[in-house]
Amino acid sequence: MSLDFEAERRELVESLKRQGILRSPELIRAFLAVRREVFVPLPVMRSAYDDSPLPTMQGQTISAPHMVAIMNEELDLREGVKLLEVGAGSGYHAAICAEVVSPSGRGLRGHVFTVEYRPELAELARRNLELAGYEDRVTVIQGDGSQGYPAEAPFDRILVTAAAPYVPEPLKEQLRVGGRMVIPVGPPYSIQKLNRVDHISGTKYREYEKGDVVFVPLIGKYAYSE
Ligand code: SAH
Repeated sequence: MSLDFEAERRELVESLKRQGILRSPELIRAFLAVRREVFVPLPVMRSAYDDSPLPTMQGQTISAPHMVAIMNEELDLREGVKLLEVGAGSGYHAAICAEVVSPSGRGLRGHVFTVEYRPELAELARRNLELAGYEDRVTVIQGDGSQGYPAEAPFDRILVTAAAPYVPEPLKEQLRVGGRMVIPVGPPYSIQKLNRVDHISGTKYREYEKGDVVFVPLIGKYAYSE
């Protein structure tokens, strides 16, 4: 098995572009820069560039590349953004976001704070992000992300990578005016809706329902119980 996945990475990006899923130049650059093979468990490394979800620890999953692309195109990230991710998992999605908000080799611009509920996964994400070279642009916090991360609020963008029963109020409160959140909402282990929440002003929010998705459940105080 070749350990150089360059060709596979390019092929995946071309395919996502052809399908119209991957569009913005910054995101395309991020997909070409982040090595997904670093974030996947050894037994499935060969499938690192399949466009499918892959298993990580404790029954959790690494989202499929097309899902990462869809969520990020909707999030509309740019350089300098302060982002909160809820559900670090393997750390792959956080790395893609970090490469957009704070591109490699350009000094530190934006920052990603990613909260992970399960301690073993928080540790895994930390390790993977370090191996991939993102420890300076991503901070991994172990805790209940359904409560957001008040210490660093407000955020320009919030990304939730687990399915919530409803949009957690603390996350809305920690979203800056003019900011945007992308979050799957719906029943656990079933078809959910990808929601986009824009913070318009004061207590005014606008919500849009996007396509069907399937995510592992968000658990915690403002989410499902364990
Ligand atoms: N973004 C990840 C995939 C996330 S899978 C990646 O790129 O690999 C969803 C993750 O959300 C799981 O790791 C799960 O443990 C975590 N999770 C569930 N509820 C959470 C909560 N309340 N706060 C933080 N993380 C949570």
